[in-house]
Amino acid sequence: MKFGGTSMAGTERIRRVARIVQRQQAAGHEVAVVVSAMAGETDRLVNFCREANPLYDPAEYDVVVASGEQVTSGLLAMHLQALGCKARSWLGWQLPVRTDDAHAKARIETIDSEALLASMAAGEIAVIPGFQGLTADNRVTTLGRGGSDTSAVAVAAAVKADRCDIYTDVDGVYTTDPRIVAKARKLKNVTFEEMLELASVGSKVLQTRSVSLAMKECVRVQVLSSFIDDDAPPADSIPGTMIVSEDELIGELEGLEMERQLITGIAADKNDAKVTLTRIADRPGAVATIFGPLAEANINVDMIIQNVAKDKGETDVTFTVPQADLARTQALLEEQKDTIGWYRMIADSKVAKISVVGVGMRSHAGVAGTMFKALADRGINIQAISTSEIKVSVLIDEDETELAVRVLHTAYGLDAA
Ligand code: ADP
Ligand code: ASP
Ligand code: MG
Repeated sequence: MKFGGTSMAGTERIRRVARIVQRQQAAGHEVAVVVSAMAGETDRLVNFCREANPLYDPAEYDVVVASGEQVTSGLLAMHLQALGCKARSWLGWQLPVRTDDAHAKARIETIDSEALLASMAAGEIAVIPGFQGLTADNRVTTLGRGGSDTSAVAVAAAVKADRCDIYTDVDGVYTTDPRIVAKARKLKNVTFEEMLELASVGSKVLQTRSVSLAMKECVRVQVLSSFIDDDAPPADSIPGTMIVSEDELIGELEGLEMERQLITGIAADKNDAKVTLTRIADRPGAVATIFGPLAEANINVDMIIQNVAKDKGETDVTFTVPQADLARTQALLEEQKDTIGWYRMIADSKVAKISVVGVGMRSHAGVAGTMFKALADRGINIQAISTSEIKVSVLIDEDETELAVRVLHTAYGLDAA
């Protein structure tokens, strides 16, 4: 069971979480619980680091920001004890959760679950702070923002759990962010591939890494709400959204003889910036001079478009990078100006990437066409396009984000009745 920041924000909410955990144990389960820091706490701690030194040491940053989860794990153990349950906290270093040494974005390598399993078998509820781990030389690490989801899946894999229930402030995964589109519909299940694409293009309901880990380790993941009353349907009756394999989904659809929507979900991401370099020579190796240095600097390039003006032997290249890396990107390209041979560099952070995702796309033509037409009908201009087997993404003006998501939600027939 994993509880996010909003679910853990304050005494009353932690008490409710404790009751949900207690019910799950009473239903006959051995339970491990992974918790986030209280909502807003990690942001507050990050701010202190920035104030201390804008060029802070990432290892010390991890010491500071990992503390939010230490507080909530201890508090939840106390609340459980108050309900008469046996419970104790297990900090990252006590299990331990071993990670690589990429501070602030560390990857979990192993979790030693022996002591944990023994304690759980003895009827003790294990409360584990999410988001944190330990390097080989015993320095504290954190797993990147939203990383408690990944902690939960990793613990579930380590103890070979029947299921990993991710309790949050919405009651499942929706066709799009229900806080933006009121007509969003809750999905009964989503495939791992779809969830991976949705998370990576902006649906922050699960951290992307948690989904790839669940897929790799075959962990059954359910997303459900912690904002429930004592008489709510039990988690075992799957009231939320299950993340399933495609095979499992097909089996279920056949059983129900139900048509699945072509598009499963729509996501928006405002964190990218667009860069255009004009009048680059149209010759082999030209784009390699641009993207080679960016790759070396660990800057992730997402969408790329190149237009050749045939008569001039020149081309404009447009691409997107995370907004957080824009300044570094511009500095690098400036440095390489003579090697690359660009004429003008134009940067724009006021863009949003809108993506439609669905495994149904594999067997159906016309998905992209529907998207382009729906946006055109509302006068929304497309600045760049990229596709994968189960996803189409377009780049548009940031001001049109909500409108675009709503228009596409309707165009693909996803609106709730
Ligand atoms: P937690 O603190 O529990 O980890 P998050 O804020 O990280 O919660 O994730 C839950 C939020 O994800 C929801 O409040 C919702 O606004 C947002 N969200 C974005 N896309 C979706 C989606 N497709 N379905 C459900 N929630 C979504
Ligand atoms: N507290 C961390 C964050 O806010 C981890 C998490 O909540 O998943 O990013
Ligand atoms: Mg989260």
